[in-house]
Amino acid sequence: MFDSITGSIRGIVNKIRHQDDVTSLSRAISELKKAFLKADVHHKTTKELLNAIEIGTKNIGIGQDNFIKVLKEELTKTLTANGNQGFVFSSTPPTVVLMTGLQGSGKTTTTGKLANYLKTRKKKVLVAACDLQRLAAVEQLKQIAASIEVDIYFDEGEKNPIKIAFAAKEKAIKEHYDVLLIDTAGRLAIDEELMEQLKDIKNAINPNEIFYVADSLTGHDATKTATTFKEKIGIDGVILSKYDGDTKGGVALSIASQVEVPLRFIGIGEKMPDLEVFIPDRIVSRLLG
Ligand code: GDP
Repeated sequence: MFDSITGSIRGIVNKIRHQDDVTSLSRAISELKKAFLKADVHHKTTKELLNAIEIGTKNIGIGQDNFIKVLKEELTKTLTANGNQGFVFSSTPPTVVLMTGLQGSGKTTTTGKLANYLKTRKKKVLVAACDLQRLAAVEQLKQIAASIEVDIYFDEGEKNPIKIAFAAKEKAIKEHYDVLLIDTAGRLAIDEELMEQLKDIKNAINPNEIFYVADSLTGHDATKTATTFKEKIGIDGVILSKYDGDTKGGVALSIASQVEVPLRFIGIGEKMPDLEVFIPDRIVSRLLG
C-alpha cells in the first residue's frame, strides 16, 4: 500500500548528509516533491508541506532524524487541521446525517457500514432509502439493512426523495432512534439537478451532518468534487471509500488541506465491518512505511 511515498522515503532521507548541509536538505526536499506529486498529493498541498518541512528542519538542525520528525509532524498537522474525526452525535437525538457522493463512490455501501458501526456501539439506527436515481439502490440498501439487522425506511410508491427523507425523519423522532442515515442519489458527474435535489432535502430535514463519500481511487477528482459539494451544499465531513485499493495515498492529504473539512472515516473493503475511524497517526505511518 502507498507505494509512491513509502517506496522512496528511505532514499530521500539518505540524501541528507550532515548538520548544516543546506544543499543536501534541498536535494531531499526536491526528491520529496517528486514522491508527493507521484502519490497524487495536490500541487498546492505539496508546496505548503515542502515549505513547512524545509523551514522546520532548518529550525531544529539539519539531520536525518530531525527531517523525519518534522515530516511526520507536518503530515499530521495537515490531516488534523479541520477538527473532529469519527462520528459526532447531536445533543438531542436523532442525529440526522445526509450521505452524499457521486454514483459508484460507495455511498450506499458506506451508509450500511456506518449504520453497522453505530449499531455495534449500541445505537438505535434507521437508514432511509432516498437514492431513487439508481434503479437497484433501494433494493441494495434493503439487503444491506437486513444483513446487519438495522431498520430501514423506504417508500416504493413515492417518487419524491424529499418526501421520503421527511417521513423518515418523522419516524426517527417518533420512534426514538439515535441516528438516521439518509442515502441520497448520486450521479455519474456533478450536475445542477442533483445539487438542487440535495439542497431541497437539506432544507426539508435540516440534517446535523452532511457526509461526502469520496472514492479514493479517483485521485485528484475526489478533491475537486468534494470542493464542489462543499461550495454548493456544504459538507461537514468526508468519508474516503476504497482506501484499501489506493496505492498512492495522497488523496487524504489533498482533501484535508484543499477542501478543509475533517476526514471522518475510511472504507477499507467491501464488507460491512470494513470501516475505520480516520486516525491521522495511522495514515502517516502508512504513508511513511
Ligand atoms: P454508490 O453508487 O455510491 O451507492 O456505490 P456502492 O455503494 O454501490 O459501491 C460501489 C462499489 O464500490 C461496490 O462494489 C462496493 O462494494 C464498492 N466499495 C464501496 N466501498 C468500498 C471500500 O471501502 N473498499 C472497496 N474495496 N470497495 C468498496
